[in-house]
Amino acid sequence: MPLPIVAIVGRPNVGKSTLVNRLAGEQFAIVFDEPGITRDRTYRNCFWGKHDFTVVDTGGLVFADDTEFLPLIRQQAFTAIEQSCAVIFMVDGIDGITAADWQIAQWLRTQSVPVILAVNKCEAANFGLALAAEFWQLGLGEPIPISGIHGNGTGDLLDELVKHFPDPETVEPETDEIKVAIIGRPNVGKSSLLNAFTGEERCIVSPIAGTTRDAIDSIVTRNGQKYRLIDTAGIRRKKNVEYGAEFFGINRAFKAINRSDVVLLVIDALDGVTEQDQKLAGRINDEGRACVIVVNKWDAVEKDSYTIYDYTQEVTSRMMFVDYAPIIFVSALTGQRVAKILDQVDIVAEQHRRRVSTAVLNEVLTEASSWHSPPVTRQGKQGRIYYGTQISASPPAIVLFVNDPKRFNDNYRRYIEKQFRSSLGFTGTPLRLIWRGKKSREVEGKSMNRAAKV
Ligand code: GDP
Ligand code: GDP
Repeated sequence: MPLPIVAIVGRPNVGKSTLVNRLAGEQFAIVFDEPGITRDRTYRNCFWGKHDFTVVDTGGLVFADDTEFLPLIRQQAFTAIEQSCAVIFMVDGIDGITAADWQIAQWLRTQSVPVILAVNKCEAANFGLALAAEFWQLGLGEPIPISGIHGNGTGDLLDELVKHFPDPETVEPETDEIKVAIIGRPNVGKSSLLNAFTGEERCIVSPIAGTTRDAIDSIVTRNGQKYRLIDTAGIRRKKNVEYGAEFFGINRAFKAINRSDVVLLVIDALDGVTEQDQKLAGRINDEGRACVIVVNKWDAVEKDSYTIYDYTQEVTSRMMFVDYAPIIFVSALTGQRVAKILDQVDIVAEQHRRRVSTAVLNEVLTEASSWHSPPVTRQGKQGRIYYGTQISASPPAIVLFVNDPKRFNDNYRRYIEKQFRSSLGFTGTPLRLIWRGKKSREVEGKSMNRAAKV
């Protein structure tokens, strides 16, 4: 589920970027410059109570001149508003209503989005309400007096704002298809598994647009959930081929991983984990895909009561790149536990696209650092985690704001990831933790403020 977006509009110098800085936490400005997150720099993540949301400051986009709002409005401002579930229209209480305010108000009344009217610079206690009252005239409902600089009234503003957000606890999960790649060396049983999936369930073979006839996906539906089995033709492509060094068509496997949400990494129970399996596992993690390890041909293994336990230990230690993946022991031949594979796919796909609220993440962080304090460097300086927030999903990426990332060694970083996993789940999905220091933040924060004013 994408975060709700709030656009903030208003003429220059009313205090838009000051407010955005306050909402996003001045010291904690988030800049979307992580690989894979290519968003405009005017988007900032904020939270209020259980709500996480993104604020887009259209300030730099809308105006060139105080009186020429309409002729100069740019497409981006429209787009930002189209995407928004609410708009904060900011005016300047000290200046009073200007011609540009009238124009913007008139335009906003023609939009279908809810508008919250924030009258800024109302820090003077009694005086503020009087300044705000004048703005009733704009016909946009109750003007809320605030002070972006001092923070007065921003709580009331946010309370008003979040009324327009979907409740994060009752939002329906997305019911789109889950893209599943079945990957593994030749002869591990990929096509047998595919037959097991498509044989029992209704199956539609669907060509992939823009590719050769040879690349074909199959769609399987189960309990109302659609699964797209990627590159079915590649899986079925039959033997009698002289395999070269890259004998199991690693490029084909890499392409399938790239197109998937969830990868079923199939290994042969009789062979155990091979080097090629590890190579595929590394790729799955690099691409940030959810993963289930399927140990096939379990029927052919001689077992006693320890076998599963020992085998699990062995697979987990050798599959270190995807140590987050659940392991399932199946037999495509007898059908044993094959139906359970899609249950695992459902679980890991959900975890992969999961979003955790900032409030919950920080409960875990507080608990984690109270059990085990951040390390102290040889110079006697201690690491401090200020707070964390999730910036994207699929896979989940969490930014941790700290005093200095260098003060956190690998051990401690692993500890924090482990705490997130043991408290919050994230089964089967990679978790990206981004450690951000104070220094880089300040620099980024300043350049962003400038950018917003251009
Ligand atoms: P923007 O162009 O709308 O993004 O406005 P800025 O956030 O850059 O603020 C413009 C000017 O108004 C700056 O000089 C701020 O210091 C000032 N300002 C912002 N918020 C307040 C406020 O709440 N009270 C007062 N008195 N000044 C403010
Ligand atoms: P692929 O190359 O990965 O698609 O593997 P196939 O599905 O073609 O299977 C390769 C061989 O393993 C075939 O002879 C299958 O009959 C056999 N096989 C597949 N699954 C199982 C299984 O669960 N148990 C046993 N004993 N043999 C299997």
